[in-house]
Amino acid sequence: MHFLVTGGAGFIGSHLCERLLRDGHNVTVLDDLSTGAYANVGHLEGNPSFRMVIDTVLNRERVEELVKPADAVFHLASAVGVKLVIEQPVKAIKTIMGGTEIVLDAAARFRKRFLVTSTSEVYGKGSKVPFSENDDTVQGATAIRRWAYAGAKAMDEFLALAHWHETRLPVICPRLFNTVGPRQTGRYGMVIPRFVNQALSGEPITVYGDGTQSRCFCHVHDVVDALVKLTECRDAFGRVVNIGNPEEITINALAERIKSLTGSASPIRHIPYDVAYEEGFEDMVRRVPDLTLAAKLIGFAPRLRLDDILNDVVGDRRNARTFNA
Ligand code: UDP
Repeated sequence: MHFLVTGGAGFIGSHLCERLLRDGHNVTVLDDLSTGAYANVGHLEGNPSFRMVIDTVLNRERVEELVKPADAVFHLASAVGVKLVIEQPVKAIKTIMGGTEIVLDAAARFRKRFLVTSTSEVYGKGSKVPFSENDDTVQGATAIRRWAYAGAKAMDEFLALAHWHETRLPVICPRLFNTVGPRQTGRYGMVIPRFVNQALSGEPITVYGDGTQSRCFCHVHDVVDALVKLTECRDAFGRVVNIGNPEEITINALAERIKSLTGSASPIRHIPYDVAYEEGFEDMVRRVPDLTLAAKLIGFAPRLRLDDILNDVVGDRRNARTFNA
């Protein structure tokens, strides 16, 4: 098969491309390298089954030209990370909603299978544990920029599902819960690469808020496996599906674990949310996925545990530091 992967030079996208090529498919990447990096896919460029196009998903003509010959589209291009959405909200909202509209229009026009990666942010301020797909999303105030990410991604889901309802376009909307692994950069706020970088360089490990908030982290290899299987599962068409790992850890415990794993002398420093993000910032206290639907549809169960994730990220960051030195 021939897949178009938008955002294929990003952290998750590049792992997806490697997997699809390993499975014997042809892959075209469309990426503007805004948050992705050529280094993530440079090693694939000699492969005759791989093609890279550097352009934005907001370029409608380019998107149509690339969607037409593909059998299916993985739409991963998006603004990433809470930090980026707060710092560049206009660009973030336009990229998320405008990009999805354009790529979906093309998928609808040429009748292509379409997967868009959504996010557990969509659950917003909900406090249910665990979150399942049909739970209410609890919207935060529009004055708080963080919630723009949830709102824009929710609109992506609405639009994709609308295409399924109106014309049975085969769409799938996996909601990813904190995906982590090699190549993820801490530049856009992601906590694990940030803590690992801080620990390795001996800088303070910056825990935002009181650190009692928790997250569930899923290895990118488990996520990619789920994305591939979802596009092959007819019962997943027209559905939102949680993908993540139920193993939960507080951010305080995460900081301690990374400090001890790296043998770091870094102090752990608590920073108020207002200073770390913006005035009035609201965090999600817990975010645990209910994986019943993913298990039923594709037999999904994450194989890698938090220790595997941390070992991989520490190895990756150590390599990057040696390489950059
Ligand atoms: N966080 C932190 N220190 C950092 C970056 C993030 O304590 O340097 C916290 C953040 O406030 C949140 C959690 O770690 O409670 C996960 O943040 P991330 O941006 O990785 O993902 P989110 O779940 O917020 O989308």
